[in-house]
Amino acid sequence: MATIELQHISLTYPGGVRAVRDLDLTAADGEMLVLVGPSGSGKTSVLRLIAGLERPTSGSIRIGDRAVNRVPPGDRDVAMVFQDYPLYPHLTVRKNLAFAPSLKGVPRAEIARRLADVARRLDLDDLLARRPGALSGGEQQRVAVGRAMVRRAACICYDEPLSNLDTDRRVRLRELIRDLHETTGTTTVYVTHDPEEAMSLGDRIGVLRGGALLQVGAPEEVYRRPADRHVAALLGSPPMNFVAGRVLAMDGGMVFRDENDGTHALPASFRVASEAAVILGVRPDAVRIAANGAAPAVGADEDQAARLEATVESSRFLGAEREIVTRTTSGNRIIARTREDFPIGARVRVLVPAASIHVFAADDAGLRVD
Ligand code: ADP
Ligand code: MG
Repeated sequence: MATIELQHISLTYPGGVRAVRDLDLTAADGEMLVLVGPSGSGKTSVLRLIAGLERPTSGSIRIGDRAVNRVPPGDRDVAMVFQDYPLYPHLTVRKNLAFAPSLKGVPRAEIARRLADVARRLDLDDLLARRPGALSGGEQQRVAVGRAMVRRAACICYDEPLSNLDTDRRVRLRELIRDLHETTGTTTVYVTHDPEEAMSLGDRIGVLRGGALLQVGAPEEVYRRPADRHVAALLGSPPMNFVAGRVLAMDGGMVFRDENDGTHALPASFRVASEAAVILGVRPDAVRIAANGAAPAVGADEDQAARLEATVESSRFLGAEREIVTRTTSGNRIIARTREDFPIGARVRVLVPAASIHVFAADDAGLRVD
């Protein structure tokens, strides 16, 4: 077991691309830390740095109680599972699994014990005699996970291991990876571009953008209090609604004037400097819709809810809920997730409880200001 610690890590590739920028990140002993970010945000680069396949341009990496900047990949005790792990095509599954430990001189009886354990956990027993060419994508990836497991490495890094699988297999293998993690307690860094996967797998998640770490925390904490609007936009489907505008002092209180010139009273608790250019965010599942004239179905926070006149533009059936796209009188597009349906063209009221409003600075960094 080991802690993985990145201190002020930067990586600039020979061509000049700054793939990782001043990253400070720790995966605690036994933790599953998930890094999530769009393509090109530096996820693979971070894993390659941990595994020793890249040397940092600056900063230091520690695994356990060792500084490993100068330790070659083979001596770092880090197992990697890639999106497309090339299994040895001419070897059977059994030999693929046994390859790394035999190379390390692990005794045969011990290898056999590990193999039996991993095959049972990953349901590989019936596949052991086959070659990779005779396996489906999901089976090959299970073998790749198994191969990382039999090494009994101090850490495992996963690089989008489920991306090439269909939904059904993806969810099953994801659960398996989580179960394996819980029983072995191996320190794990798992990388994905899929926010839902990140939130369901991680003890903590770290959000990357442009090689920089924007936020790290428990999934619920990051989802409920995103540190900036990029994190807010990435986590959640459909994405958070954003409305740009200004906060103004008016009639003894604060109002928000959106860029389409609609003015909305803000809750008394609001603490943003007057005249500040901000972006308000609200998640679709926090938005409620009421038919015009009907009593709004809001809870105790009713007084504090922003109410906007709007028209229904579209309504999509998603099973338990619908996704309803509305356009407010002042021209903003607001998406709601509701159980109720509303006909297209209907005039409605869009209700936003104050407690679910997020406020971000309007500049590029978009830091949370509430
Ligand atoms: P991700 O895994 O999040 O998609 P990567 O870590 O692969 O991101 O890449 C981060 C950035 O570094 C991207 O701009 C990518 O084009 C660049 N990059 C990745 N590998 C190399 C390389 N070997 N040489 C030069 N640039 C690279
Ligand atoms: Mg990648």
